[in-house]
Amino acid sequence: MGERIYNFSAGPAVLPEPVLEEAQRDLLALPDAGMSVLEISHRSRHFDAILAEAERALRDLAGVPASHRVLFLQGGASLQFAMVPMNLLPAGGTADYLVTGVWSRKAVKEAERIGRVHPAASTESERFVRVPRADEIAVSPDAAYVHMTSNNTIYGTQWTNLPETGSSPLVSDMCSDIFSRPVPVERFGLIYAGAQKNLGPAGLTVVIVDEALLARSPDVLPSMLSYRVLADGGSRYNTPPVFAIYLLGLVLKWLAAQGGLEVMAAHNDRQAARLYAEVDRTGFYRGVAERESRSRMNVTFRLPTTDLDGRFAREAAEVGLDGLAGHRTVGGLRASIYNAMPDAGVAALVEFMQEFERTHG
Ligand SMILES: *Cc1c(COP(=O)(O)O)cnc(C)c1O
Repeated sequence: MGERIYNFSAGPAVLPEPVLEEAQRDLLALPDAGMSVLEISHRSRHFDAILAEAERALRDLAGVPASHRVLFLQGGASLQFAMVPMNLLPAGGTADYLVTGVWSRKAVKEAERIGRVHPAASTESERFVRVPRADEIAVSPDAAYVHMTSNNTIYGTQWTNLPETGSSPLVSDMCSDIFSRPVPVERFGLIYAGAQKNLGPAGLTVVIVDEALLARSPDVLPSMLSYRVLADGGSRYNTPPVFAIYLLGLVLKWLAAQGGLEVMAAHNDRQAARLYAEVDRTGFYRGVAERESRSRMNVTFRLPTTDLDGRFAREAAEVGLDGLAGHRTVGGLRASIYNAMPDAGVAALVEFMQEFERTHG
């Protein structure tokens, strides 16, 4: 069997080792089923149990109130960019967007195909190195919803306080920080996240939606694009991503065993603080995001030259620290330290940073 290295990639990303081991055991034959989890029918009692347990574990972990439905969908966050306005933006209405990076800009672009969009705040003129302050946000009084990106994976920025949205439902793209900390689900009309960053493998999108919003889905929408139809179908309107839901269930169980989201948040704060302390230590490394906006999931930094950035990523990969190059649109370096990143991975990266500075600084 191959040696595991430390995977700092932004996504698909590191998964908890005990989860991978359990999946490996079930891959040939699921206990009691006599066949692989990859082979069972999505209408079998085995999958009934997997689906019910995944939803129960998610509700327990995040404290999802009875008012909200949990949907297991496909198409990634990129399909949610379109589905959110298709379902929630009525003809003649306006949707507000807080523009904090490339992903929120893509969400805006899809919404503009459907209806009117009002940018309620944007930090684009500062190259997205921070999220907006409360006094910079101007929400329309009658916004159909307000859309935010809770963690900006590419720039390494993260919201700490939720924006005030009056009576308009708050919608969040939580792809890269879902369940890295407690989520006040009752404050959101809708939350969506592709699983491949903090929840499981690619191919599954988790949507948590206030049941009251389902009435907005227009009857003319194609079934596979309608939250109402998908909710009525209990995430089984068509064949769902069986394996990805199974693995999500294992990750949720693992998170609960770690102590839940409060414990996870404290752990992630600690891990991020260790890395930022190293970034700030001498001035050789420079953090990309402004301090108050720094992400606890994606730590972005730069070296004095782009040549050194490239060298850092290459030499780190050679010693088993993989995926540290920044996003292709911004360059620099990025260490993604999702829930499943072991402490030893962060320790190894800090040690490598110190060694690299000694030899190249
Ligand atoms: C990765 C990412 C996306 C894109 O997700 P897909 O599942 O590839 O569509 C969108 N938003 C954020 C914040 C992301 O990190």
